Amino acid sequence: MTDGGRPARDGGERDGMAVVTDTHQHLGVSRGTGYETTEAALLAAMDREGIARALVMPQATLDAARAEHDRIAALARQEPDRIRGIASICPWVGEAAYWDEASRCVRELGFVALKLDPQGHGVAPIHPAATVVFEAARTLRVPVIVHTGMGVPAALPSLCLPRAWAYPDVPLVLAHAGWGVFGAEALVVAEAAANVWLEPSWCPVFQIREALRRLGPGRILFGSDHLENMAVQREAFRQAGVTAAQWRQIAETNPRELFGWPPVGAGA
Ligand SMILES: [Zn+2]
Repeated sequence: MTDGGRPARDGGERDGMAVVTDTHQHLGVSRGTGYETTEAALLAAMDREGIARALVMPQATLDAARAEHDRIAALARQEPDRIRGIASICPWVGEAAYWDEASRCVRELGFVALKLDPQGHGVAPIHPAATVVFEAARTLRVPVIVHTGMGVPAALPSLCLPRAWAYPDVPLVLAHAGWGVFGAEALVVAEAAANVWLEPSWCPVFQIREALRRLGPGRILFGSDHLENMAVQREAFRQAGVTAAQWRQIAETNPRELFGWPPVGAGA
């Protein structure tokens, strides 16, 4: 959005001076929906909606993850202050191949998290095949983002809880926070494990309000998933009654501390 035609790239006064990070964005085409995000469209949407930074992952796909990671890394090199990558690797490639690509993404390409998509990758978080995701995250010291909601039973939020308990040192983000239908379950998971964060894209407003009330703003993240959803999701937080201080915590402080980018202490 712009106020009086003036670009609001950093959110500005509209967002109480929060420097907003969208923690859930993609590049490429979704096999599930056909939805496509291009580099140009992503950057244009960020400018338009006052999103300063975005964490970008491939669409869940069973092959070519390496090429898609390279594409995201190229965008991050072009926009080093605005873009960082999240690796999304299908655990079914096997432990060695998973580790090779995960460590390449984090150590060589500067990616800040690993994504597990129970629906797209076809593996539940508690399945033994998914152990490599949490082991790699622990070794690489990055959070795991797990898609939840659409794609149950594999995508049930509760299936993340045994992992959260087994890996208390690994931050675990429930992407979509249960996607509405399983929103209450996602909140229970977050209450049961202090290393769980909720990113409530696609959730109804009352669930965001309830998460704020029961969890507080310290373990809630802003993510939009789709370009057209950036403004919608921001408005959902507003309708849920976030204060300016809570919004700054959610949109700026939490992602910075959780993903280590930009480093705390660096300029906005
Ligand atoms: Zn997504």
